Amino acid sequence: MNRVRLHDKEFEPYISERDVASAIDKVAARLNTDYAGKRPLLIGVLNGAFFFAAELVKRLTIECEVSFVKVASYHGTRSTGKVSELIGLSERIEGRHVVVLEDIVDTGSTVRHILDSLNDHHPASVRIAALLFKPEAYKQDIPIDYVAQEIPNAFVVGSGLDHDGLGRNLPGIYTITES
Ligand code: 5GP
Repeated sequence: MNRVRLHDKEFEPYISERDVASAIDKVAARLNTDYAGKRPLLIGVLNGAFFFAAELVKRLTIECEVSFVKVASYHGTRSTGKVSELIGLSERIEGRHVVVLEDIVDTGSTVRHILDSLNDHHPASVRIAALLFKPEAYKQDIPIDYVAQEIPNAFVVGSGLDHDGLGRNLPGIYTITES
């Protein structure tokens, strides 16, 4: 792995493709145990989670369904806070065991919005699986049930994660250089 330049920023290798793969192996093994006989609905959060979802799902041996959503954030006309909406959710959630697949959990506000939206549909259970998790940045009290890899609070790209549109195709994980 070599340094890469994406737009104006330079990134250095941080986690190899092989280590990412073995971290995903471990999450898949846990899901295979925890969800046996439950036919979970896995919901990937686009765009970043396409990689994690594909890599995870091909390691699952249990019956499962897979779907994707996008999170649209906008400022409500009268509310002060940001309003988020899940786009593309077509499956019936009621009574289902749902696992949300996130590329990276940083402050956790995305996870918070997704959980709030999903819970409106009365699922049997909802858990979160994340390829990467930044515990130092996390500000919510929601448990991140399945974490492939914890990382420090730095900006990373690769394995589905981008910098302004670029870098999603890089195998492994790269971190931004100091300079
Ligand atoms: P949160 O809502 O947890 O603060 O942020 C989650 C979203 O922010 C992720 O889905 C991702 O789009 C973006 N994000 C947070 N940290 C990083 C990072 O280090 N690299 C990239 N590429 N995106 C990040």
